[in-house]
Amino acid sequence: MDNYDLIIAGSGFAGSTCAAVLANKGKKVLVLEKRSHIGGNAYDCKDEHGILIHKYGPHIFHTDSKRVYNFLSKYTEWNDYSHQVLAKAADLEFPVPFNLNSLYRVYEKNKAEELEEKLISSYGKENKISIAKLRESADKDIRELAEFVYEKVFLYYTMKQWGKRPEEIDPQTTARVPVFISRDNRYFQDKYQGMPKDGYTSIFEKMLCHKNITVKTSIDAKQLICFTDNKIYCNGKEFFGKVIYTGALDELFNYEFGALPYRTLDFEFENHPVTLFQSHATVNYTVDMPYTRITEFKHLTGQKHEGCTSTVKEYSRGYIHNSSDIPYYAIINEENNTLYQKYASKASEFDNLFLLGRLAEYKYYNMDKIILLALELCDKLLGR
Ligand code: FAD
Ligand code: UDP
Repeated sequence: MDNYDLIIAGSGFAGSTCAAVLANKGKKVLVLEKRSHIGGNAYDCKDEHGILIHKYGPHIFHTDSKRVYNFLSKYTEWNDYSHQVLAKAADLEFPVPFNLNSLYRVYEKNKAEELEEKLISSYGKENKISIAKLRESADKDIRELAEFVYEKVFLYYTMKQWGKRPEEIDPQTTARVPVFISRDNRYFQDKYQGMPKDGYTSIFEKMLCHKNITVKTSIDAKQLICFTDNKIYCNGKEFFGKVIYTGALDELFNYEFGALPYRTLDFEFENHPVTLFQSHATVNYTVDMPYTRITEFKHLTGQKHEGCTSTVKEYSRGYIHNSSDIPYYAIINEENNTLYQKYASKASEFDNLFLLGRLAEYKYYNMDKIILLALELCDKLLGR
């Protein structure tokens, strides 16, 4: 292990981005991944029917960062793709985020026109407003609309996803899906959007295929690395290089201060003997059904495959520690953030340990944010 400058635990976008950048600068990197494959939650592969699926749930790339887009574009070409989501609220169907088109789908024309005018004069065209803010409107008609959207879009879906009502979770979470005073039906408005032409796994393979990088899968970093007395040991010998850790911090420190809560997902993959199963890539079930959403991969990837199509249903539930569950979502609130800070403070006692990623930072990050943070960490490590 003496010959490695860095050990990176985890090969998702956090770990793989760092490995690629640092190896290109001449650093010798060891990547340890506990799953049997690289790519973390963005991993994709063909299913038994030959359809490219996202094994850990649908991943759509979108960013406003030119730096991130340019960086990833070194490893992939892109298919033009803009994600659109349909909400099914029992017998109602409309675009989410709830927008001006949605308004006309759920109200009769005169009422929709009246509300459109009020929304535009209160918030301005092409602006976004969170459901929490909309519910505080001084205007009675807008408040009524807000209650409708709250019930038909947020309440039941959020209960399924988080086991809590929208007002009981971090407001930033529901604000990810605002009410949009616009005719734009896209889920994201970022400048750069698309899907990698050959899928995500191919990006990871290219990032990690470098003479300075060794990748070991099916190995938990904790089997090799040990953290004691403010020092990092690797295979029993003190490791003087740097460690970038992208896994869960409570797990790293043996739950010393207690377990950090997460939500996990159960995925139900299905194949259907039809060319296309649903009208949109993703359909959110916002008032019924035990699952939150169904995504059809061919819409995302643009794959041409006659005769059948594959979909995934997502069921959310509490993550069980020390089981085969995967912690997908940090549950962000004051109590959990305080607990996380205890672990972060313990981690800061190790000069050569760096925390990065959705798990290690206990944050609700999209892929682009993780890549940006990874690039920034590399800048720091390379003294740029
Ligand atoms: P991960 O991808 O989780 O990678 C961490 C890796 O570390 C894993 O492979 C894990 O096995 C490994 N690991 C952990 N502990 C250890 C250890 N001790 N030793 C060795 N290896 C270890 N983002 C978007 O931008 N667009 C989307 O559409 C989108 N959709 C999503 C849908 C779902 C259902 C989920 C859960 C997330 C979605 N995301 C999306 C977020 C995206 O998955 C994350 O931003 C991204 O995966 C974070 O990368 P990461 O490297 O931090 O974490
Ligand atoms: N949300 C909702 N109804 C929807 C879509 C989203 O209530 O139709 C809420 C829900 O609380 C969800 C959050 O908004 O967890 C963020 O949604 P997003 O689509 O960003 O979730 P992700 O794709 O990250 O699971």
